[in-house]
Amino acid sequence: MVDDPYRASGPPPTLPPTKKHCFACATILDARAELCPSCGVRQPMTALMVQPSSQIAVSSKSKTTAGVFALVLGGIGVHKFYLGRPDLGLLYILFCWTFIPALIAFVEGIQLLTMPDAEFAKRYP
Ligand SMILES: [Zn+2]
Repeated sequence: MVDDPYRASGPPPTLPPTKKHCFACATILDARAELCPSCGVRQPMTALMVQPSSQIAVSSKSKTTAGVFALVLGGIGVHKFYLGRPDLGLLYILFCWTFIPALIAFVEGIQLLTMPDAEFAKRYP
C-alpha cells in the first residue's frame, strides 16, 4: 500500500521519545499530553506517563505519627504497637523502668522522622 495517498500524507513513522501522535487526529503532541489541543481527544496512557514514584509502595501508617510516638511515648513502646510489632512493644514496657527502651526509642524516633518515605513504606507496609 505504498501508493496510498492517505498513508503518504500521514505522520512520519519515527518520533523523538518525548513526542507522540494524537491517536485521533495524528497531531504531534508532547508524550505527557493528556488532551490533544487540536481535537480535544483524551490520549491513552503511555509508558512515559507512568512515573516511577507511582510504583513505590505507600505505607498505611504515618511516618510522622510513628516518629512522634517514639519520641514522646517510646519508653513504653507505643510506636512499636503503632507499627504492628506488639511483641517488641511489650518488651519496651517490661524494661521501661531501666530507661533503656526510652533511649532506644529516642534514636528510633529520629530514624523514623528522617527516614525516606519509600524506606518507611518498605519496612512498615
Ligand atoms: Zn487530536
